[in-house]
Amino acid sequence: MKVVLATRNKGKAREIGRILFGSGVEIVSLDEFPGVTLPPETGATMKENALIKARAASNVTGLPALADDSGLEVDFLGGAPGVYSARFAGDGATDEENWRKLLKELEGVPASKRTARFRCVMALVGVDGGERCFEGVFEGVITGEPKGSNGFGYDPVFLIPSKGMTSAELSPDEKNSISHRAKALDALKSYLASNKRSLLA
Ligand code: IMP
Repeated sequence: MKVVLATRNKGKAREIGRILFGSGVEIVSLDEFPGVTLPPETGATMKENALIKARAASNVTGLPALADDSGLEVDFLGGAPGVYSARFAGDGATDEENWRKLLKELEGVPASKRTARFRCVMALVGVDGGERCFEGVFEGVITGEPKGSNGFGYDPVFLIPSKGMTSAELSPDEKNSISHRAKALDALKSYLASNKRSLLA
C-alpha cells in the first residue's frame, strides 16, 4: 500500500521511510508530484497543521497521505513557542536565534519551573477522507546554557533529566529511540500492524 508523505524535507522522509520499513506501507515522496505545493501551516495546533498538510497531499495525489508537525512547549511560557517553534525569533530565524530568545525569556526562572516537552503529531488521511492522528511527547527541562552539537532546533538547550544530557549530546540513534517523533511513529506502526487499518483499505 502506497502512502504519500506530505513533506519536502528529505531527511524527515528518509527517517520515516526507514522506521516504517517492513510495515506493509510504501512511502512515496512528494517529490514524485513536482507541481504540488503544500498549504501554509495556519492551524492553531500541531494536530491541525499536520491534518492541513495530509489532507492537501491526499486530495492532490489521490493516495492516502501522512504528515507530521512538531514543536516545543514550555510550561512557564504557557505552552509557547508551540506551533511557532520554527519562527519563535521571527520569520526565517535560525535555530540559534530561536533558542537564544528562549533562554532570554527564561532568564532567572528556576530549574523546577523550566519544564518543557517536544510534541509530534502524525496525521494519516485516507482516500475516503477518514482521518487519524498519532502523537508522541518527549519530556525535558530547558537548560541555562547550550550543550552538545548533535540534532537541530532546540536540542542544545533541552535537558533530559534521566540522562543528565541535552538532546544535542545524544547520538542520533539514541535520540531517535526516545524522541517525540519516534513515539508518534510507534503509535502509527501499531495501527498499521493491527487488523483495523481501515484508512488504508
Ligand atoms: P517541524 O514542524 O517538525 O518542522 O518542527 C518545527 C520546529 O520545532 C523545528 O524547526 C524546531 O525548532 C522544533 N523541533 C521539532 N522537533 C525538534 C527536535 O527533535 N529537536 C529540536 N527542535 C525540534
